[in-house]
Amino acid sequence: METWYNKSIEEVSKDQKTNIDQGLTVEEAKKRLDETGPNRLKESKGRSPWQMFIDQFKDALVIILLFSAIISAAVGEISDSLVIAVILILNSTLGVIQEYKAEKSLAALKELASPRALVLRDGKQQKVEASQLVPGDIVLLDAGDYVPADLRLISVTDLKIEESVLTGESVPVEKTDKIIKDEKPPLGDQKNMAFMGTIVTYGRGRGIVTGTGMDTEMGKIAEALKDDKREPTPLQKRLDRMGKKLGLAVIGIAAIIILMGWLRGIDLLEMFMTGISLAVAAVPEGLPAVVTIVLALGVQRMIKRHAIIRRLPAVETLGATTIICTDKTGTLTKNEMTVKSIFLPGRNIKVSGEGYKPEGKFIEGNTEVKTNSDKDLALLLKAASLCNNAELTRNKDNNRDIIGDPTEGSLVVAAEKAGFTKERLNNDYERIKEFPFDSERKRMSTVHRTPDKKVIAFVKGAPDQILKRCIGYQINGKVKDLDDNVREEIVKQNKEYASQALRVLAVAYKPLDGENNLHIDNVEKGLIFLGLMGMIDPPRREVADSVKLCKQAGIRPVMITGDYSLTARAIAEELGIYKNGDKIITGSELEDMNPEELKEAVSLTTVYARVSPHHKSKIVQALKDSNEVVAMTGDGVNDAPALKKADIGVAMGITGTDVAKEAADMVLTDDNFASIVSAVEEGRGIYSNIKKFIHFLLSCNVGEIITLFLAIIVGLPRPLIPIQILWVNLVTDGFPALALGVDPAAPDLMEKPPRDPDEGVFAGKMGVNIISQGLFIGLLTLVIFFLGLHYFSLPVGQTMAFATLSFSQLIQALNARSREYSLFRLGILTNKYLILAIMISGLLQLGVMFIPFLQAAFKVIPLTGTQWLIVLLASLTPLPYVEILKALGITREE
Ligand code: ATP
Repeated sequence: METWYNKSIEEVSKDQKTNIDQGLTVEEAKKRLDETGPNRLKESKGRSPWQMFIDQFKDALVIILLFSAIISAAVGEISDSLVIAVILILNSTLGVIQEYKAEKSLAALKELASPRALVLRDGKQQKVEASQLVPGDIVLLDAGDYVPADLRLISVTDLKIEESVLTGESVPVEKTDKIIKDEKPPLGDQKNMAFMGTIVTYGRGRGIVTGTGMDTEMGKIAEALKDDKREPTPLQKRLDRMGKKLGLAVIGIAAIIILMGWLRGIDLLEMFMTGISLAVAAVPEGLPAVVTIVLALGVQRMIKRHAIIRRLPAVETLGATTIICTDKTGTLTKNEMTVKSIFLPGRNIKVSGEGYKPEGKFIEGNTEVKTNSDKDLALLLKAASLCNNAELTRNKDNNRDIIGDPTEGSLVVAAEKAGFTKERLNNDYERIKEFPFDSERKRMSTVHRTPDKKVIAFVKGAPDQILKRCIGYQINGKVKDLDDNVREEIVKQNKEYASQALRVLAVAYKPLDGENNLHIDNVEKGLIFLGLMGMIDPPRREVADSVKLCKQAGIRPVMITGDYSLTARAIAEELGIYKNGDKIITGSELEDMNPEELKEAVSLTTVYARVSPHHKSKIVQALKDSNEVVAMTGDGVNDAPALKKADIGVAMGITGTDVAKEAADMVLTDDNFASIVSAVEEGRGIYSNIKKFIHFLLSCNVGEIITLFLAIIVGLPRPLIPIQILWVNLVTDGFPALALGVDPAAPDLMEKPPRDPDEGVFAGKMGVNIISQGLFIGLLTLVIFFLGLHYFSLPVGQTMAFATLSFSQLIQALNARSREYSLFRLGILTNKYLILAIMISGLLQLGVMFIPFLQAAFKVIPLTGTQWLIVLLASLTPLPYVEILKALGITREE
């Protein structure tokens, strides 16, 4: 492979046929993409449908059934064994279709959350899918990005990259753009290269793509990237354990029954088949498949509501969320900043204009300020626009828009309103150094060469941070000492702006003597204060309603922000998050608390202000220690630990860094708080639907066991044969169970407090419900069997029992829609899928009852009108029975 670290930037750009100021043209990039293929590592393929089909037969129960099919065949019951085989194939095929769909929709999620890269093409910065990168592209890196391809760096600003995936070394490497002359340096020493899959932890940089896809260092070691294994959800794990226990219990019971029957002198084969029937009756075969498909469907619905689930277990945890800790900027607010007020010592200036349109006036008192002759204002605006990485552009609709951070964008717009365009400023004041903004320092500085060749530093950031470092201030073009009076005036003004919900930045400068000592400690001290700039960031419209919904659902919304406490409080109050009497804690107060104090404080606090990302982890920990289920938002690199620690880490899809997204359980595609609440609502709905079909399937199974077991105990002949039970469990029950999985939410879904995450599946009255209703179905079937046997014959009794069991279970599906509300209150037709499913299953059952060769296969005989009437009337009875239980409140969960 060619090496790039030992070539000059000119050589590399020549080799790669690219222009480092303009990038490739869009056409050229397209052409190269056709040649090189997408910038992706080869992934191991998912399971093929055929493999899924085979996997279905690895299930213990299926093996037992296969075994019994073989035994049936061996003793000459060929038709039995054929029917079992057909049912198994039918069931496995249905299983594969469902699993395949679920896998596909879950795989699509990964695509949705795939990283993007900022490139220079046609001379413009643009975001493209990382998979679209080609050699020669000029890529821009920023803190929090995954490096999207192998790059030879051509400029760096304090760029640090963590390369542990490649080198095992977890300390970030400081990068350079200088040529490296060493002979064959190891990867960790190729400091002018950035490698695909490593993480930018600090600073910014630019590089030429030298390799993509498998043609990268990562590609070399990852011949085929193993698909990360999908984690089962807590509920799936629980169901799995339950299934195993049931299986064991069943083997025990079946053994006892076989033994009992044998002692009584009943035919061994007959007893063996009864044992098998019991096993089939006891195990809810359809359950795992239905859980998977319902989770997958739910995840699809969440995408429509702007939430991408990255880890499946999050779906369940979401429903149990008790507290949502959210960032302010961009999540609660629109993150469309507009500078509205400017303070210069002794002066207050209003700025007119809306959004990012660079048109507006500067008004002081009642007169318009002449920005060109006003030295102080001019310098403030220039400094704010120069110490800044945002750019003003036009979007697709030709409206003004910004690229970069909206806070910075608003400053560029304000400067342009005064006629200082960014382009001219950049030309006149060449930038020679940058100390990038980060949320811990809460400030940023740049050093420039002025038109008259002097060197000057501009600093902007949180007012308290800047003011601490100022020794003078500028007024009428002259510098004066910053005495306590002026200091106080500035602090007062800052508070005044903040209480109007404005975000405030302070701007300062420092003349430097030459370019010798450009160390951050030197540049950011002894500053001269220029002024404050207050910007509005309007709250998102839908947030106030979502906050209300949260509170009604017993979920506490909490604001966490880097902003000043008064600004934070003003906005939190407007949105209903903060009310009088709540606590507000600042980052530094938090710092001084011991874990006990913190634990107490977090129970009362609704606003955390002046918080740095590392405080977020502390907050999450304290909340978790207080048994809260915490959802926490974040976007930056430094937010990743808190996102990982939270029960639900939520990353911002638009403004979030790759690292934050990778650490998160859920990614919001619209960065909106309201979407978190929608996701919680979906999470609750999904969990409650899963409980509905568990209720349905298990109550049916209980019914079957009761029928079989009681019949043996009281010495009746066998009411149902294994293939009939198999048919009901694997075929006719499957459709209604799925339809219950998409049942509309109960009317009070968001009026109840969150569920306890540790509660079992059978919490509340679930167990009582399953047993009481299963018992009814079981007795009903047995009674009908007895009637048929007594008044007609054994085959009639068995046929009537089979039909009653099947039809009454279809009616039971309607009961399972709610353990509290009457079906008539919910509306019979509100779940159309369920009605359809019941009709399909009903027709299938009728097919078995009426089509001659199926009659033979399932050992049923034609029934008379009277017999049918008895069966149908009996099958309806679970409905009034459960309605009465509901009315009496016996089924209601506390
Ligand atoms: P959130 O509310 O989502 O936590 P935030 O924007 O309030 O986000 P940070 O981005 O960490 O939090 O900003 C913290 C503080 O740093 C801000 O209140 C502001 O005073 C200052 N600040 C923000 N952006 C910049 C910037 N680009 N340059 C200089 N200072 C900034």
